[in-house]
Amino acid sequence: MISTLLISVSVGYNFKSNTAEAKTKHLKPIIIEGPMPIEAEKFASQLKNVKIEKSGSFVFYKGTLDNYPVIVAKTGKGMENTAAATAIAIEKYKPIAIINQGTSGGHDPNLNVFDIVLGKNTTNIGSLKTETKDENQGIDATQWKPMDLMASEGSAGEDPNAEKPRFYEGNKDLLAAANAVKNKYTKGKVVEGTIGSADVWNNEVDRIKWFHTKYGTSVEEMEGAAAAQISQAYNVAFLGIRVLSNNKTNGGKYDPTTADACQGYVMEVVKKYISTNPSK
Ligand code: SAH
Repeated sequence: MISTLLISVSVGYNFKSNTAEAKTKHLKPIIIEGPMPIEAEKFASQLKNVKIEKSGSFVFYKGTLDNYPVIVAKTGKGMENTAAATAIAIEKYKPIAIINQGTSGGHDPNLNVFDIVLGKNTTNIGSLKTETKDENQGIDATQWKPMDLMASEGSAGEDPNAEKPRFYEGNKDLLAAANAVKNKYTKGKVVEGTIGSADVWNNEVDRIKWFHTKYGTSVEEMEGAAAAQISQAYNVAFLGIRVLSNNKTNGGKYDPTTADACQGYVMEVVKKYISTNPSK
C-alpha cells in the first residue's frame, strides 16, 4: 500500500517535470551575453531551473524566464572572448536571438551615466588603417581611416572600398521589444544609437569626439561588434544594449552599479520579446 503510494507520487512528479521540459524543448533559446560577473550574474540569478554549463572559460547559465528558454552567457571581456563565446553558443544552443549587454563609456555629451543605448547600429572602432609614412615621419591617429574587414575576401589594406566603417544593424523585433518597455526604466533615458567596440579604453576626449563625428558613436565598449559580426555570420537576430557607466565627454564618473540597472531593463526587454514573439 505504502509502496504503491510512493510509486504513484514519484510517477506523478516525473510526469509534471517532464512536461515542463518538453514544453520548452522545441523552443529556440534567447541568449543574453554579459562580459563581467557584474554584467551577467544578476540576470542569471533571476532565471528558473538553472543548469550551468562551461566551455573553455565561458560560462552558460541555462534556464527559463516566463517558461521560455533563456541562457545567460558570461563571456569575459573583449572582442576575442565575445566572438568565441558567441560562436560556441550558436553552435551549441541554436538561439533565436542574442542580446549583448553591459556597461559602456559615453561618446555623446547629451548622454549621462545610467542612460541606456539600444544599438540600432553596432560597429568595430578598432579596425583601422593608418596613413603611409616613412621612418621619422611620426604617428598621426587623426589621419587613420576606418577599415571594413567584411568589405571583400581580398586585401583590406589595398582596397579603397574597405575604407569605411561596417555597421551591424540591430534586429527590428528586438528593437521593437526594447522600445516598447522604455518607460519601465526609471534610472535614466533609453535612446537608439550606435555602439562602437574595440579592445581599447579611450580617455582622450578629442579622440572620442573623432569617433562620435566620424562613426556617429553614442557609446564605446569592448564586445558588441564582435557578437554582432558572429551573429550575422550565422544569421541570428542580434541587439546590443548598453548602459553608460562613465562618460568622459561630460565628466560622468564610472559607476559599476549601472551594470545591475542594465540587466533589470534587459529583463523587461526579454519578457516583452517572449510575449510578442511566441511562435519563435
Ligand atoms: N573599470 C573597470 C573596467 C573593466 S574593463 C575595471 O577596471 O575593472 C572594460 C569593460 O567595461 C569592458 O567589458 C567594456 O565593455 C566596458 N566598458 C565600460 N566603459 C568603457 C569605456 N569607456 N571604454 C571601453 N570599455 C568600457
